[in-house]
Amino acid sequence: MKVDLVVKNGWLVTPEATLKAGVAISGGKIVAVARDEELPEGKEVIDTKGNHILPGLIDGHVHFRDPGLTYKEDFGTGSMAAACGGITCIIDMPNTKPICGDVAAFKEKKEIAESKSWVDFGIIGVIIEGNIGQILPMADAGVVGFKIFMGETVGAIPAPDDGAIVDALSYVSKAKRRVGVHAENNQIMQYLIKKLKGAGRTDALAHVEARPNLAEAESISKIILFGQAMGAKVHIYHMSSKEGVDLVKAGKERGVDVTAETGPHYLLMEDKDMLKLGSILKMNPPVRSRDNAERLWWGLLNGYVDCIATDHSPHTVEEKTNSNIWDAIPGFTGVETSVPLMLTQVNAGKLTLNHYVRVASENPAKVWDIYPQKGSLRIGSDGDLTIVDMKKEGVLKSENLHSKTKVTPFDGWKVKGMPIYTIIRGKVVMKDGKLIGTHSGKIVMPAK
Ligand SMILES: [Zn+2]
Repeated sequence: MKVDLVVKNGWLVTPEATLKAGVAISGGKIVAVARDEELPEGKEVIDTKGNHILPGLIDGHVHFRDPGLTYKEDFGTGSMAAACGGITCIIDMPNTKPICGDVAAFKEKKEIAESKSWVDFGIIGVIIEGNIGQILPMADAGVVGFKIFMGETVGAIPAPDDGAIVDALSYVSKAKRRVGVHAENNQIMQYLIKKLKGAGRTDALAHVEARPNLAEAESISKIILFGQAMGAKVHIYHMSSKEGVDLVKAGKERGVDVTAETGPHYLLMEDKDMLKLGSILKMNPPVRSRDNAERLWWGLLNGYVDCIATDHSPHTVEEKTNSNIWDAIPGFTGVETSVPLMLTQVNAGKLTLNHYVRVASENPAKVWDIYPQKGSLRIGSDGDLTIVDMKKEGVLKSENLHSKTKVTPFDGWKVKGMPIYTIIRGKVVMKDGKLIGTHSGKIVMPAK
């Protein structure tokens, strides 16, 4: 009997090894991983022509703005951008309108996403002071994890006080899920913003000064301590500071289940780039000085920064651009540019393709409790593959992105190494940068 899809004549890349092998997929699942001559016959066959076959790449941090903020992005456009960028699965953030803070809001988002998503998706539930009683019901309904905003950012979701965070963590622990935090000390930031505004500062670098390393370090330090005390799994979203790397390292070394992610902008850009890019590069937390990027690279290569995630956070051009830095909204698109940017780093020798697969597929799946359904090339895992051509060159252009709003600080960047196929549960959804067929993304939930 023929299987649905056979992918062959390529190099299979896992975190451990690169093998001359192919994959067979049937019924949406991987049914064989073998040398080409040992693979079953397929109804459809993809000859990769010597390119690299990766487990489906995952972006564990995106804001698709649906429901409520769909003038910026929606699940249709955001997921098209993901598919075109070589991403097979995303995890969506809860600061939508309404916020994803109870079972009803979770179900509403699930329905919206299933009606238009091109890629598979997990949903994060938010924790605020008023909804701690919703943590267990949301976990039961199927969120992959939770988020706490420890410092105020886009969406102005108020940070719970420390007592509420500690209480919430006891439920997160009971729910056997992980909670990710936006780690910035609100009091330090609000004080400095007021002081800098008072001094008449409106330039781009004032944004970096208002959100110093210490603000991030204090929050990371606190959540690791709280997580340890309450036995809860914690995750640091969009880590940007060298202090963060060392705090996560120390936490892991004393046995705390703490994980962290960083994004291409923190690795490849620096605060000085704001002199040229202005508010386009405005992000919370900010892109910092070069020594921070270097420590993040070191952490990524040594297992202290677990994941690459983009914090894809689109806004309109009007919202993004303002010569007064306080009046521009932080965030920019990222889900479509991450893979080519990081493959370029692989080609430059900064990390191996095997290590990239670990931090962009296996680890995010493990962190959000969807492994080995996602993030793996094992038999029985979902048939998700990203095929990449490591020799293909291109230039990232804002106008070519599929997001509804396309502001990116990487406009004009040359890349070498690009995704050429995105395959989700055995179905090709992108070939050579073009969408194929129709949307059929499904929710992914942790196993019960
Ligand atoms: Zn975010």
